[in-house]
Order: sequence, then structure tokens, then C-alpha cells
Amino acid sequence: MASKRMYNSEFLNLGFTHVTHQGVLKPQCVICGEVLSNESFKKKELKRHLEGKHNGLVNKNRSFFERKEQQLKRQRLDAPTNPAVTGMQQATLASYLVSWRIARTKKPYTIGEKLIKPAALDLVQTTNGNEFAKKIEHVPLLHDTVKKLIQSMSCNIKSQVIAAIKESGQFSLWLYESTDLSDDTQLMTYVRYQGQEDMEEEFLFCRPLQTTITGEDIFMMVDSFFREEGLNWKQCYSNENYSLSQVQDTIGQHMSKLVTEFDHYIPENAHKYSWIRNPFNIEAEDLPEEISNIHNLQEQLIEIQSDEALHYDFKRQHASLSSFWIKVYKEKPILGGEARKALLPFATTYLCEAGFSALTVTKTKYRNSLQPEDDQRCSLTSKSPRFEELVNTLQCQGSH
Ligand SMILES: [Zn+2]
Repeated sequence: MASKRMYNSEFLNLGFTHVTHQGVLKPQCVICGEVLSNESFKKKELKRHLEGKHNGLVNKNRSFFERKEQQLKRQRLDAPTNPAVTGMQQATLASYLVSWRIARTKKPYTIGEKLIKPAALDLVQTTNGNEFAKKIEHVPLLHDTVKKLIQSMSCNIKSQVIAAIKESGQFSLWLYESTDLSDDTQLMTYVRYQGQEDMEEEFLFCRPLQTTITGEDIFMMVDSFFREEGLNWKQCYSNENYSLSQVQDTIGQHMSKLVTEFDHYIPENAHKYSWIRNPFNIEAEDLPEEISNIHNLQEQLIEIQSDEALHYDFKRQHASLSSFWIKVYKEKPILGGEARKALLPFATTYLCEAGFSALTVTKTKYRNSLQPEDDQRCSLTSKSPRFEELVNTLQCQGSH
């Protein structure tokens, strides 16, 4: 018998993940789900499938296939007939999905055992009978379980956000002081960084603040979080040059709730940023002095100006200004990089407002939790937990 071939993580670039089928490891296409034979674990064979069946996707980057792989793994878990998924895993997944809904709607943890499970039993018992209802009995939804699962999902989302920040290379940080009705003050922190298609904004962490706290203390809090997560102050971008003392000044400014959105900022700096608002309507020699001397920057501006497809994209404007520049950045990193620097610090106020109201709801109405961070993260994020990872590795408990 021929020796078995193994999976190589590079195969994902060709759209293939792996699956164990009757005890044998086989390649599975993340697009159509087709399972090939073990002997097909060869670049040439996988490439033939990709080019032959999904020709339009040949040039997609790895993160595209990673997303597809996540979806596929999720489908595998959801399929109740899949013999590779145990009843235990199904019950755990169901428990995660319900806990996620509880977190997203900011409901008390007890709603799982007090309302959702009994209601689900009623529904299934009356429509499908006792046999199916028994399966629901095994889904754990006690208060402590829900709490623990929300912690794990929060931890999973935090790692996704940290990984995305690291991949972006640069990020801006926003700090807010949030006082809820019980007079507890929380330091709320948010980040903005370059995602795959557009700028992304996410909740980063929150910590209780004593009334006697100084700017220095706040700096230490953020610094210790950065150390724990391996984030670098040098990549934390503020509109000034970044040195530690300036970061402290910046923090001071943010604490006075200075919110400057790009559109509000523009009038005062109309000249300085007009090339970002419309790069097709400026002569290279009219660029602001501080960037016009950057090597190759003018050339890149002229190149994008003569790119008709890009100009068409820009005119259609159904994407945001920042997503346009991220697209440019991938091909013209010098020009795009300068635009990115200018666009990074302008966080929208949406998250902070949503964060404030979420904090008020979660802390005062339902549970007097002293650690609202996991609730905050789950209710504010635009990411979704990787359930497959979570179901298979019940680890990574809250670090606090
Ligand atoms: Zn396929």
C-alpha cells in the first residue's frame, strides 16, 4: 500500500483544507466542499481543481480562503448527520450559539435556563415529540455555563482583533471615560486599524477607574495591556510623531473627550488633506510640502491618476474613502501609506456611543458585574467567534 500523503498549510492558498474521511486524511475544497483522494495532496492536483472549477478565484488571497475554510468547518459542525461530529460537540455548539445571542442582545445570563431552554423544549416537544426534545435537554445553559462561554467567545474575538491589528501594522487608539448610573467609571478603549477591505474599529478593553486616577496610571494600564498582547507603542499612531511622552500627551487629550472626525477636521486643514479627499483633482506639485518630497510619492500619485479603472471606482463611491485608499495602499504603498496615516486617527463616534449604552444596560439593568469587559466585547464587535475552534478546544478562560 502506498504511504499516506500529509496536509501542508500552503494548500489553503489553493483553496484546500483537510478532512478525515473513514480514517484517512483527504483534501477538501473550501469552495465547493468536494473531497479528493489522499493521493491528491499535491499542489499540481489541487491547482487543477481550483483552475478548472473555480477559475474566477485563482487570484484570491489567503485570507479569502481562510474565511471560506471557517465557513466550511462551521457547516460541518452544524450538520447533524455528520458522523464525525459527536452529540457532545453538537450540544456544546448549541450552547455557544445561544450564549452568543444572549451576549449580543445584552440579556441576563439566567435567561438561558429560565426562558430559552424551557421555551425551546415546548417548541420541539409540541412539533416534533419527546425524542427530539431529549436532545435539547443535554444542551447546557445554566448561568455559569453561559458566563463561561461568553468569556471564551470574548477571548476568541480578542485574539482575532489583536491578530488583525498586528497584521495592519499601524493602529490608532481611543480612550474614553464612561460613567454609568451606579457611578462606576470605566476606562473604555477602542482601536482603529486597516482590515482586509476597509478600516475597522473594535472595542479593545475596559478597566475600572478610581476617581484619584492620573494620566500616568492610565498610561500604565494601557501599557500593561499592550505588553500582555504583544502590541507595540511604535505602531500606535497618533497624528503627531509618536514617542512615549507624546503618547501620554495624546492620552491626556483623549481623556478630555476630544473626538475629531475626519469631516469635521477637514475645514481647518482643507489644503493639507484635499489630495486624500480627491486624488484625481490635484497636480503632483500642489501636494503639501511635508509629503511632496517623499521618494516616489509624486510618481505614485501620477500613476493612480492615469489608472482609469481606479478613477471609475472612485467616482462610483459606493465604498468609503478609507476602503478606496486601502485598495490603493495594496498597490502603491508609499502614497497609500500616507493617506492611511491621515485616515487612521479619525475614529467614528458610533462605537463609543454604542459602548456607553451597552455598559449602562449590562451593568445597571441586569447584572452588577464588576468585569463588564467580556459583555462589552461580545456586544460591540463586528467579528464573529470562531465556533469551530471553540468547540474543539475548550480553553482560553478569561485572563482576569
Ligand atoms: Zn471546489
